[in-house]
Amino acid sequence: MCQDHKPVGNPSHFEGTEQEKSTAHAVDGTFAQYTQGMKFFDPHVHMTSRTTDDYQALADAGVVALIEPAFWLGQPRTGLASFKDYFASLVGWERFRSSQFGIKHYCTIGLNSREANHEALAEQVMEILPLFLQKEGVVGVGEIGFDDQTAAEEKYYRAQLELAKEMNLPVQVHTPHRDKKKGTERSMAIALEHGIAPNMVIIDHNNEETVKSVLDQGFYAAFTIYPFTKMGNERMVEIVKHYGPERIMVNSAADWGISDPLAIPKTAALMKIKEVPDEHIRLVTYQNALDAFAQSGQIQEADFIHGLEIDQTQKFNGNTILRGGQAPRIDKDSLIIR
Ligand SMILES: [Zn+2]
Repeated sequence: MCQDHKPVGNPSHFEGTEQEKSTAHAVDGTFAQYTQGMKFFDPHVHMTSRTTDDYQALADAGVVALIEPAFWLGQPRTGLASFKDYFASLVGWERFRSSQFGIKHYCTIGLNSREANHEALAEQVMEILPLFLQKEGVVGVGEIGFDDQTAAEEKYYRAQLELAKEMNLPVQVHTPHRDKKKGTERSMAIALEHGIAPNMVIIDHNNEETVKSVLDQGFYAAFTIYPFTKMGNERMVEIVKHYGPERIMVNSAADWGISDPLAIPKTAALMKIKEVPDEHIRLVTYQNALDAFAQSGQIQEADFIHGLEIDQTQKFNGNTILRGGQAPRIDKDSLIIR
């Protein structure tokens, strides 16, 4: 057993300090009172790691579309076939599962920074990326970038930037939690060096230290809201108040670690309470993410703005989300599943 009783952090994302514990819980039970009628777009959430209850809660809270970036699964993959199956599930089964709850599912595909360090395997993954990046509903290369800021990470970050450029796709950049400022600056400098327009790059996991430079250089600035640590809701509200809504977007980055898939509606509620204008809330929790990733040519707002048709009698390769005896929900032309 572990001697150290401190909670284990999520190594795939930025971790803040103990001090950064925010009021994430303040709006936990009541957020829906403030977000009636609002629609949300979560541009970073790892639904593969989440349950059907989460899908239901997201739909109930007004999340109409989401993007699932390819990422690190918590332990290293040992062969190319597991990457292939994972990428295939992001454009296949997971998209189907999401549709069964009325949420439009997109994904980004890429070699994550941690696994870039296994060079022999990374080489093989690079070979199959173009095939998956061409698939319908793939809205960018991601999440890629730096973790430990090693030479191998840089090599595959650069290679994937070239791929994004060739295929004219947006890039979703994971920034490291150690040496964040340096890693963020380096990520941006390299993207510019490869001739990628900053408006095609979404720099993720920002904080107060990085946001100004990211916005000043013309990149999109994404913020991950986590419960207990990191970028809490309150800090997020202050950032939007200070910088305004342009090119800023909020995400949950919910995954297999301690995280909250409802981070966006809860943050929107807090913004509403703190009197951030409605239009600013809409931009940072919906429109800016849509605009950034629609540059892929793969997102049509009309596909989800009025809700998806939910028909749980549908199957994916013969499989259903229903279990024996459960009645399928058929709920056409309705935004909210009841
Ligand atoms: Zn992620």
